[in-house]
Amino acid sequence: MNQHNLGRTDVVRKLIIDGRFVMPVEGRTFGTYNPSTGELLATVAEGDARDIDLAVAAARRAFEGPWSKFTPFQRQEVILKFADLVDRHFEEFSQLDTLDMGMPITMTRGRRQRAIGMLRMYASMCVTIGGRTLPNSLPGDVFAYTLKEPVGVVGAITPWNAPLTGTIWKIGPVLATGCTMVLKPAEDAPLTALRLGELALEAGVPPGVVNVVPGPGTVAGAALAAHMDVDKIAFTGSDATGRRIIEASKGNIKRLMLELGGKSPDIVFADADLDKAVAGTAMGIFGNSGQICSAGSRLLVERSIYDSFVERVADFAKALKVGNGIEPDTQIGPVVSSKQMERVQSYLGLGVGEGAEVVAGGNRLVDGQLAQGYFLAPTVMKNVRQTMRIAQEEIFGPVVTAIPFDDVGEALRIANSTVYGLGSGVWTRDVAKAHGVAKGIRSGTVWVNCYGVLDPVIPFGGYKMSGYGRESGIDHVEEYLATKAVVLQNG
Ligand code: NAD
Repeated sequence: MNQHNLGRTDVVRKLIIDGRFVMPVEGRTFGTYNPSTGELLATVAEGDARDIDLAVAAARRAFEGPWSKFTPFQRQEVILKFADLVDRHFEEFSQLDTLDMGMPITMTRGRRQRAIGMLRMYASMCVTIGGRTLPNSLPGDVFAYTLKEPVGVVGAITPWNAPLTGTIWKIGPVLATGCTMVLKPAEDAPLTALRLGELALEAGVPPGVVNVVPGPGTVAGAALAAHMDVDKIAFTGSDATGRRIIEASKGNIKRLMLELGGKSPDIVFADADLDKAVAGTAMGIFGNSGQICSAGSRLLVERSIYDSFVERVADFAKALKVGNGIEPDTQIGPVVSSKQMERVQSYLGLGVGEGAEVVAGGNRLVDGQLAQGYFLAPTVMKNVRQTMRIAQEEIFGPVVTAIPFDDVGEALRIANSTVYGLGSGVWTRDVAKAHGVAKGIRSGTVWVNCYGVLDPVIPFGGYKMSGYGRESGIDHVEEYLATKAVVLQNG
């Protein structure tokens, strides 16, 4: 069954619980909208605490039932089949993401290798999970070893900004380790998660292993975070929600993995390849309309080139083609919702009030068809001081704040002076300088002479208030495993 034939807004996209497509207990639904046009895209079942209860119970049964009997090879086979299905339906996923949250179609199509590559990497990890034997100093003939076991039922809560890859980041390690899950996608873009849940069943993932329950964060998400039979929450979203999840999780002291926001510095030294740095820093913030957690939203530029470099980034921003995400020549799509647009606009006003100068953008775009959607011009703000709110707080829109610095020490001081530590970039031809800055920055990733590039094997996550836990690579799979020590005395 494909419950995602777009164009049918009257057909309710149902919850996926225990391998079945079901209406929520209360029968409520909500609409998901295309931010490029403001039009209703689909009607989605709205789960609440009772649906979460049912989904968690199904996940628990599956965890203790047939899924626990799957050998590593069998899990691997299922994930590879799932990867093939996602690959076969990739164009459909590209369109779903573009229509549901606005990311330009060239960008959603461009994620094929990453999306499929992630699933194949998790498949490869099924067969590498294992404990160790432990030489020890205990008296007698004691043999000790560790077992690596799946942590159990995982509650996964995702944001709307990268539905396909963001959801695979949650499903992949669950399947690789033998956990089960209840997935609560963001209200603004739930369609991809539902379709992935459907294809997981088609791939042979047993019923109850991947349950998908869209619904309001404060209702369905909160119920999942507080649930006494959920062993772990894997959360991606804002730090404000992250704090609520920490609070809600305390009942059964469940494990947490928090991938939160950022205010990432992108540092340009005068000795860099400036042509490359203009395009790299600009797309490091404007790509996906700034709605990337690790977006390089603070542009730190060495003072000797500050004016000329910022002017070039402003020119680059003005030349970007902003439009409906589904058009193949669109480089920058809308922001996800009117609420998000108003939030970004309020920061623009705040920045000007704080004394920053707008050198590109700064306005909503309303020409012709654009008036129907939530389009903001890529914006460059100059003469920004690090103490301003626009340089401290995550805007999550196409807005970069440009700050000058005099030397490496000052660049590092500015780079590290926010509560976040997710991404960062350094542009220089001086290898020693690059290494020094990479070591000095307190963030989970440092990109040198590039920005925002991700690979399935490279761990991603935050320092400071950008959260804890790592996604991608070996570290990721470890987060879904518990270590059991077995100590065995002969005789
Ligand atoms: P959000 O925190 O508002 O929502 C994220 C998810 O949490 C949604 O599914 C929402 O329904 C749910 N939620 C809301 N309130 C909840 C509650 N009380 N209990 C449980 N769940 C609740 O974030 P958003 O606006 O969807 O996404 C933007 C944020 O996500 C930004 O801060 C961005 O930086 C961050 N993000 C981080 C990463 C990363 O990997 N670090 C990746 C993408 C986005």
